[in-house]
Amino acid sequence: MRQLLRQRGQLGGVRLEPQMPTERYRVGIGLRSIRRRRKMLWIVIAIYFPQVWLTIECSGSNTALAIVFTVWFIMLWNCVMLVAFARCPSCDNYFHIKSFFPTYHKRHCLHCGLSLYADLDSESI
Ligand SMILES: [Zn+2]
Repeated sequence: MRQLLRQRGQLGGVRLEPQMPTERYRVGIGLRSIRRRRKMLWIVIAIYFPQVWLTIECSGSNTALAIVFTVWFIMLWNCVMLVAFARCPSCDNYFHIKSFFPTYHKRHCLHCGLSLYADLDSESI
């Protein structure tokens, strides 16, 4: 009997879920990844003026400023590419690109309309 209950996933009154990730879980993981990438992009953009100001105040050297700017620009480029080529977890198209130019301010997939916060709002998946 115990073996039968274990096979059916019911033991001790608790129904055990199968180990395969559900579609909802997979969409949630994908949306969290996109939100994380977007957050990193805005953080990199936001630190530009403070870091330039800090570099000028601390060093006053153009060489140091050029190095800081180059590092910042590489970080910006990487974040822009990560956000632009993020795939929608629902339709597997690019989340922010429909034709040629990416639109970073949209909060839904440009192909299927999946909201960026669909996993937090359980009704919209
Ligand atoms: Zn989509």
